[in-house]
Amino acid sequence: MTERIFNFSAGPATLPLAVLEEAQQEFLNYKGSGMSVIEMSHRSKEYEAINAGTESLIKELLGLDDDYRVLFLQGGASTQFAMIPMNFLGQDQKADYILTGSWAEKAQKEAAKLGQTHIAATTKEGNYVRIPQPEEIHRSENSAYIHITSNNTIFGTQWHSFPEFGNIPLIADMSSDILSKPFDASKFALIYAGAQKNLGPSGVTVVIIRQDMIEQGNKNIPTMLRYETHSKNNSLYNTPPSFSVYMVGLVAKWIKNQGGLAAIAKHNEEKAALIYDAIDNSGGFYTGHAEKDSRSLMNITFRLPNEELEKEFNSEATRRGLNGLKGHRSVGGMRASIYNAMPREGCQALADFMREFQNQKG
Ligand code: PMP
Repeated sequence: MTERIFNFSAGPATLPLAVLEEAQQEFLNYKGSGMSVIEMSHRSKEYEAINAGTESLIKELLGLDDDYRVLFLQGGASTQFAMIPMNFLGQDQKADYILTGSWAEKAQKEAAKLGQTHIAATTKEGNYVRIPQPEEIHRSENSAYIHITSNNTIFGTQWHSFPEFGNIPLIADMSSDILSKPFDASKFALIYAGAQKNLGPSGVTVVIIRQDMIEQGNKNIPTMLRYETHSKNNSLYNTPPSFSVYMVGLVAKWIKNQGGLAAIAKHNEEKAALIYDAIDNSGGFYTGHAEKDSRSLMNITFRLPNEELEKEFNSEATRRGLNGLKGHRSVGGMRASIYNAMPREGCQALADFMREFQNQKG
């Protein structure tokens, strides 16, 4: 294959071509330093500028001020599942989890190893086809924090408005929809995301944390697992995943150049509509997993009439350069991951292929 394909993989996922080209251009000699970012000391002034610039761009995109820090950590979103309760869940408290999918379950199970948790709501019944209504959420009396998963990568559901819990710290795993739309980030005490879907390559986990949370964190835990360690050292306590952070910076700059989060959101809505329309106008040939009100604009999950057709669909799509469409085994069927960097043309090509396939087989 000499041309680039449309990559619908859930993550690591497609990145903007302009970003890849910029990285390629700078790869051997970064801004006249005579070396690649991948070779550069994390204590160099060039890398410190990349690190600080990436933090301030993310804050700017989210409209956050100095009440917040952006940290660049390792260990994936999965390490955050443990780090959050280690830092914030006191012995006499409970941590509230809203279960909307497998990743939310994993976060809750990890916290339950470290303290008391409470399931404030779950939509597991019916295999996570929706986000709960506000009246279904019952938090505990002495809540340390409330944890949600803003976009459910596997099931293809997404919170379209966030619940309000007053002063209780709201924490969100935004791994699969961070920087995909405007929202009031100042309502959150902590937001985390593995970079490999909407932000850049794998290897770095972005944590956006309110200053007062950093101070509240438990001090009697390993140094590397304390947010305060990373905040005090500007994410340079130990060797950071420097090339990944650099790439996140380029992606953030690309988002800003697209017109910021409002422009990206409009683009994402239009892209998703192309594929959801192909599902909704298929007369039942394609069926969406998610209930309409809970549909994700990032991961579109759908089934075909039988598994045989699903296999055929997948191999024919791959043959045409539409890759990574096989759904997760817990949902079956297909999943089109269309993060920020998926161009509209990719969504159009998939929607066209869906109609064509249906005409042939339906
Ligand atoms: N949370 C969500 C919502 C995810 O989609 C994923 C990865 N697919 C994870 C957490 C786990 O992320 P990581 O692999 O970075 O640990």
